[in-house]
Amino acid sequence: MTHYDQDVIVAGAGIAGLALSASLAQSGLSVLLLEASPRPSSPTLGTDIDQWDRRVSALTPASVGILRRVGAWAHIDPKRIAPYQSMQVWDAEGTGTIEFEAAEVGVTDLGYIVENRVTVDALLAVVERSSRVRIEWGDGVEGLARDRDGITVTTQGEAQWSAPLLVAADGARSRLRDMAGFKTRNWSYHQGAIVATVALEQSHDGTCFQAFSATGPVALLPLADPCLCSIVWSVDDPEWERLMALDSDGFTKALNAALAGNAPAVCAIGERAVFPLHQSHAVDYVTDRLALVADAAHSIHPLAGQGINLGLADVGVLANVVSTAYHDDLDWGKANLLRRYQRRRKTDNLAMMAAMEAFKRGFGNRHPLALVARNVGLNWVNQTPLLKRWFAAQALAAEGL
Ligand SMILES: Cc1cc2nc3c(=O)[nH]c(=O)nc-3n(C[C@H](O)[C@H](O)[C@H](O)COP(=O)(O)OP(=O)(O)OC[C@H]3O[C@@H](n4cnc5c(N)ncnc54)[C@H](O)[C@@H]3O)c2cc1C
Repeated sequence: MTHYDQDVIVAGAGIAGLALSASLAQSGLSVLLLEASPRPSSPTLGTDIDQWDRRVSALTPASVGILRRVGAWAHIDPKRIAPYQSMQVWDAEGTGTIEFEAAEVGVTDLGYIVENRVTVDALLAVVERSSRVRIEWGDGVEGLARDRDGITVTTQGEAQWSAPLLVAADGARSRLRDMAGFKTRNWSYHQGAIVATVALEQSHDGTCFQAFSATGPVALLPLADPCLCSIVWSVDDPEWERLMALDSDGFTKALNAALAGNAPAVCAIGERAVFPLHQSHAVDYVTDRLALVADAAHSIHPLAGQGINLGLADVGVLANVVSTAYHDDLDWGKANLLRRYQRRRKTDNLAMMAAMEAFKRGFGNRHPLALVARNVGLNWVNQTPLLKRWFAAQALAAEGL
C-alpha cells in the first residue's frame, strides 16, 4: 500500500467531524481535518438571554457516552448542561397527551440539552491537544480524485492531500457527496424552523415540552438556567415569514397560543433565526475510499431532536470499523470493509426517519378524523406502559454504543 502522511482525511469540523477525528486519533490513526470556515471563537458563556446559543441539541445518554469516551464531555462547563428528567408531548388541537419520566424507564436523566457551540468548543479542546490531528481552517475541499490505493483532495487554497480514506462530514448540503456522485432521496418539508432562547414565568423543572399545534410542532427545550428554554418551532411556508416579522410581544403571544397553556408561559424572547427544513438520505453511505457520516448521509426533521444523535451513532460505528481494520492491518478505505458501517447504521437511520415522517404527516393532517385518531393514539400509548417504554427506548438508544 502507498504511504500517506495521514491515515484519514475528514472534511467538516462540525460536531460529527470533530468527534470522528477525536475518536480515530484516540485509536492511534493520524487525521487531517479540513474545514471550509475559519476557526470558531470560543464562546463567552454569558447568562443574558442573547448570550445563549440559539442552536442547541438534545443529546441522548448514548451520545453523551461517545462525547465522554473521546474526552470532550469533561470540557463542558456543568453550568451549561441541562439534564432533563421528563418529557411532555401533547396535541394542542385536542386532548391527546403523552408523558415520559426518566424513572419509568429506569434512568436518571432522559437526556441533556447543550448549546451546539459549547459541544463544538469541548471537542476542539480535545482535537487541538492531540498530536495525531492536524486541522486546516478556512480551506474546504473543492475537488477529489480516487485511485486504487487512495483518494486525493484539492482544497480552496489549492493544496492537495491524499489518504487511504476520506470521510465527508460536511453537513446536510454535502458538496463532497455530490462531487463523488452519491445518489440521494430528498424532499423539502416546505417548513422553516424558528429558533430562539425564551424566558419563562416559572421554572421548566427539567422538562422538555412539545406541542403539535395548528402551525406545526413547537418544542421548548430546558436550558441550564431554570427559567430559560430554547425553542424550535417548525412552521409551514410562508407562515414562518409572518411569525418572523412580528415584534417580540406579538411573537410571544403567538408562541403562548401554540403552547395552549400546557407549558410554563413565555414572557420574553431573544433574537430569532430560521432554518429551512429538508430531509435527505443517501442511498449508499460508502464507496471505495469515501464514507459519508451524519448529516452528509442523512438529515431529518428536528421534531424529535435526533439529527446529531444519529450522527454521533454513525461516528461510533465508523470509528470502530476503521480502527479495527487499521489494527488488523487491513485496508480501511475499501468499500467492502466500509459496508460494515453502512449495514449497521442505515437500518436504524431509516427507521428513525420513517417514524419522524409518520409523525409529521399525522400531525400535519387537518382532517377531523385524523385529529381524533392521533388523540386516541397518544392517549393509548400514554396508558400502555410497554408501548411507552418502547417509545422511550427509541428516543434514548443509539446502535453501536
Ligand atoms: C432547528 C434545528 C434544531 C435541531 N435540533 C436538534 C436536536 O435537538 N438534537 C439533535 O440531535 N439534532 C438536532 N438538529 C440536527 C443537528 O443540528 C444536525 O444533525 C447536526 O448539526 C449535524 O452535524 P454535522 O457535523 O453532520 O454537520 P454540520 O454541523 O452542518 O457541520 C458541517 C461542517 O462542514 C463544513 N463544510 C461544509 N462544506 C465543506 C467542505 N467542502 N470542506 C470542508 N468543510 C466543509 C461546514 O462549514 C461545517 O462546519 C437540529 C437541526 C435544526 C435545523
